[in-house]
Amino acid sequence: MNLRIPGPTPCPPEVLQAVGRQMINHRGPEFAEMLARIDKGVKHVYQTKNDVLFLTSGGTGAMEALVVNTLSPGDRVLGVSIGSFGDRLASIAETYGADVVRLKFEWGKAADPGEIDKALAADPSIKAVLVTHNETSTGVCNDLESIARTVRKHGDLLILVDAVSSLSSVPVCVDEWDLDAVASGCQKGWMVPPGVTMVSMSARAWKAYEQAKMPRFYFDVGKALDFAKRGQTPWTPAISIFFGLDVALGILLKEGLESVFARHERCGSLSREGAKGMGLQLFADERYASNTVTAVKVPEGVDGRDLTKMLREEYDTVLGGGQQHLAGKIFRIGHLGYVQETDIQAVLDALSKALPRLGFSPSRAAAS
Ligand code: PMP
Repeated sequence: MNLRIPGPTPCPPEVLQAVGRQMINHRGPEFAEMLARIDKGVKHVYQTKNDVLFLTSGGTGAMEALVVNTLSPGDRVLGVSIGSFGDRLASIAETYGADVVRLKFEWGKAADPGEIDKALAADPSIKAVLVTHNETSTGVCNDLESIARTVRKHGDLLILVDAVSSLSSVPVCVDEWDLDAVASGCQKGWMVPPGVTMVSMSARAWKAYEQAKMPRFYFDVGKALDFAKRGQTPWTPAISIFFGLDVALGILLKEGLESVFARHERCGSLSREGAKGMGLQLFADERYASNTVTAVKVPEGVDGRDLTKMLREEYDTVLGGGQQHLAGKIFRIGHLGYVQETDIQAVLDALSKALPRLGFSPSRAAAS
């Protein structure tokens, strides 16, 4: 099966083998050695010297960790959103009592640093900015470097980033861009089944942690740091997923970050050019098109749900559908993690066969 949703992503065979290993004592030396190795590799990928904490959760747990470890009820925060995951991050902060000023951009567009600048200038009481790096629901990758630079002009605000569908596939320079807390999840570009997430914490984020009054227990990164010093996690970790992450990091680092990023660029570009070549239209503003997920408009007259069903049942190809108001209107090709151009070419071939059967002629549209 060609699984091309934007996560969970397929895993290399060595990773699948590793997750099937016998259990070990999570308070013993073997786990401690593995955790140290993983910590080193993950910091390299995060391009950071900051602490990185490991949580047993899905990506939403890591998003929650960003919020509850740095904020207090009543804190005013800017919730930048360009799609469903940006909305989710703002909602998590609201759920825990933050006073969220929502700055929403049209789905398909990137966040405009100029608008962020204006929002921060208009409200000096804002303490933190919540932002999604790569918006998986729309296939847009924000210019995080510019956004971070803009926020920094306003002082020591916290920059809390959901980098779940970008980190390890496209550059995220945590130290260089001065990002305070950054969440990632291993079921995306890291090529591992779901279950372990990571959150980096800058010195500024740790300072905020000391003051933060939101309730936290399972996702308390301070506890995670205390236990990490002993080569452990506070609670029983998803040991099998750590086995997988250990092996996957070896594969990633052997390929080298630059090659990994270049491969994602090629796969992103092939998806976009292939779709356009068929006469399809991209959903995302192409200047900010993501190199991990491509959102494509379902052509007029075709129901996107029929298309994804046919691809799944008859062409062994699994694509993502549209979320919320985009259900049936877009489909999404995931190209992150364990992916090569041949996998994307296979998706394009399947599309070129399925679409005419649903009333859309790719060749005619491309020629017109
Ligand atoms: N943020 C982004 C950008 C994501 O793509 C996802 C998963 N699609 C999440 C957060 C949430 O991750 P999970 O589904 O593992 O909770």
